[in-house]
Amino acid sequence: MEIVSYLVYLIASICFIFGIKKLSSPKTARQGNQLAALGMLLAIIVTLFDQRVLTFEYIILGIVIGSLIGAVFALKVQMTGMPQMVGLLNGFGGGASVLVGFAEYDRIFVTPTIMFDEPTTISIVLSLLIGSITFTGSLIAFGKLQGIVTGKVVKYPLQHPLNALLLVAVFAAGVFVVIQPYEIEIIIGIIGVSLLLGVLLVLPIGGADMPVAISLLNSYSGLAASMTGFVLNNKMLIIAGALVGASGIILTIIMCKGMNRSLMNVVLGGWASAGAEGPAADSKAHKGTAKAIDSEELAMLLDSVSSVVIVPGYGMAVGQAQHAVRDLMNVLEKKNIKVRFAIHPVAGRMPGHMNVLLAEAQVPYDKLLAMEDINDDFPNTDVVIVIGANDVVNPAARHDQSSPIYGMPILNVDYAKTVIINKRSLNVGYAGIDNELFFYPNALMYFGDSKEAMSKLVSEIKAL
Ligand code: NDP
Repeated sequence: MEIVSYLVYLIASICFIFGIKKLSSPKTARQGNQLAALGMLLAIIVTLFDQRVLTFEYIILGIVIGSLIGAVFALKVQMTGMPQMVGLLNGFGGGASVLVGFAEYDRIFVTPTIMFDEPTTISIVLSLLIGSITFTGSLIAFGKLQGIVTGKVVKYPLQHPLNALLLVAVFAAGVFVVIQPYEIEIIIGIIGVSLLLGVLLVLPIGGADMPVAISLLNSYSGLAASMTGFVLNNKMLIIAGALVGASGIILTIIMCKGMNRSLMNVVLGGWASAGAEGPAADSKAHKGTAKAIDSEELAMLLDSVSSVVIVPGYGMAVGQAQHAVRDLMNVLEKKNIKVRFAIHPVAGRMPGHMNVLLAEAQVPYDKLLAMEDINDDFPNTDVVIVIGANDVVNPAARHDQSSPIYGMPILNVDYAKTVIINKRSLNVGYAGIDNELFFYPNALMYFGDSKEAMSKLVSEIKAL
C-alpha cells in the first residue's frame, strides 16, 4: 500500500508542477488550474487511505463545512476584494499548520512508546513559528484591506528592536525545545510569541502595500505547510508547500520590481502616503491647466484615427468598466481601427488584475500586450485611452528623481500623438502623487466614472 501512496503522491506532485507552469500563460491557465486541482484530489484520496486516519465522519464533516464556507466566499467576493480573500486563505493555511504541528507534538508527548527525534522537533517548531506568524499576520492584512484595522503605516516605540528581540527569543526557545522536547509550556510560549510577532510585523505596513505583504505571507504559508510535511513525513505536502513558498516569493519580487521598491522598503512600512485617496499629500499647485474633452468630441476625434491603445488601471476595476471597454473595442474595430491593450505589470491592485478582468469581458488574449512589448509602439499610436490608470503612466517615474516612483518602469503613453485620460478628477492614485501627464500638451482629460464614461463614448461613436 505504501508504494502505491508514494506513486500517487509523485503523480500529484507532477500535476502541481505542470499546473503551475501552465498558469504562466493566460491561454493555458485554466488547464493549469484543473491539472493542479486533479493533483490535489489524488493527494486527498490517497491520504484518506493512510493508516493514521481514524474517523471518516470528522473528515466528511470538515469537507462539507469547509466547502460550504469556501463556496459562499468565492461567490460573494468582488474582484476588487480578491487580495483580502487570498490573505484570509493564507492565514487559514498558516493556522492549519499550527494545529497539525501542535497535534503531532501532543501525540508524541503523550505516547510513551514514541520518542521525539531532532528532525521532527525542528520541523514542529518551524511549522508552529511560521504558521503562527502567517495566521495573525494574514488576519491583520485582511483587516487592513477590509477597513477593519487602520490602513495607515503604524509606527510604535522601539518597533524594530522589539521585533528583533522577540524573534531571537522565539528562536532560542526553539533551540531549547529541540534539546529538551518535553517542555510543553515552552512550545505554547513559542506559539504565543509567534502569534504576537505576526501582528507586530504586519501592523506597520501601509494598507496599500498589503497586496505585496499578502504575497509574502502566501509564501510563508507554503513554507509552513512544507514544514508540516516534514512533521508528518508526507512528501506531497513538502513538495506542494515548497511550490507555494517559491511561487509566493517570486511573485513578491515581481511586484516589488514593478513598483521599483525593495522588499525591505515595503516590509518596514515604506510609502507613508501610499493608498491615500484624494489630492496629493504635498499637493503643489497643479502645473498649468488640464484640458478636458467630452464624449461627443472624443467620439469625433476617434472617427479619424487608425490605431488606438487602451491602458486599463485600477479605476477600470473599481468602476467595473471591463464590459464597456470591450464594447468600445468592438465599435472601434468596426471602424477598421487597430485596437490593442497595454498592460502594466502592477496595474490595479494585484498581479494579473487587468488580464483577469479583460478575460472576464471576453477580450481576446492576443490583444493584451505586456509593457515591454508595446512601449516602443506608442510614438506610432494615434490615440491612447487611459482608463482609471494613474501611477503606471506617470512620466515623473522617468525623470523626477525626487518622486517616490522614480525608476519605476512605466507605459510611455505620453509619446503617442494624443492621450485621453479617463478618471473622475485630477486626484492621485496609489502612490499618492500628482501626475504631470494630465497637463501635457497632447493630453486630454475625459472625466467621469470609468463604466459610465465608456458606455457614453460607445453610444456617441455608434450615433455618428
Ligand atoms: P492608480 O492607483 O495609480 O490610479 C487609479 C486611478 O483610478 C485613481 O487616480 C483614480 O482617480 C481612478 N479611479 C478610481 N475610481 C475610478 C472610477 N470609478 N472611474 C474612473 N477612474 C477611477 O492605478 P494604476 O493601475 O495606474 O497603478 C496601480 C498602482 O497600484 C501602482 O502604484 C502599483 O505600484 C500599485 N500596486 C499594484 C499592485 C499590483 O499587484 N497590481 C499591488 C500593490 C500596489 P480619480 O479618483 O480621479 O477617479
